[in-house]
Amino acid sequence: MTKKINWRNPEEAKEYYASWRLQNPEKVRAYNRKHYLENKAKIIARSKKYHESHGEKTKEWSKRYREKNREARRRYVETHREEITVYGKEYSRQHYLTVGGKRFRVNKRIYYGVCEMHGGLIEKRPRWHHWNNEHLEWGLWLCYWCHNAVEASEQKGIVIPLYSKLKELIESS
Ligand SMILES: [Zn+2]
Repeated sequence: MTKKINWRNPEEAKEYYASWRLQNPEKVRAYNRKHYLENKAKIIARSKKYHESHGEKTKEWSKRYREKNREARRRYVETHREEITVYGKEYSRQHYLTVGGKRFRVNKRIYYGVCEMHGGLIEKRPRWHHWNNEHLEWGLWLCYWCHNAVEASEQKGIVIPLYSKLKELIESS
């Protein structure tokens, strides 16, 4: 690493720059970004001219690029499967609701891991309890037990004061 570089030797200089780039990817990225922004119009014009004169070849290249990318994308999905599914699960929990076998997009309130009835942490799957099919966004994040309780109260016509209060609050907000 302490090897003295002979700057007059283009091969040595090239090697030095290449290894520097490898070790400083953020700096390279920032530089490229800055350079691009400063020369955007010129770069676009040049690339347009190039594409015009190399039509078929560039088509072939972009095809190859897509194929390569597909492969990279597939590899990414394979190695990040867990994060992707966790994210996907959280996303669909926050934005989707299945009612009567049909999936609807709903903007639910953010789920913080707490049951909105009894206030305790939800250890397993939270339930988005809704009471009006015209307003799927009116709902409560409930634990298994509180969900059972409010479902039963709805069915049997038993009033749970806290539940009534929360419903009122949500419908008027
Ligand atoms: Zn609860």
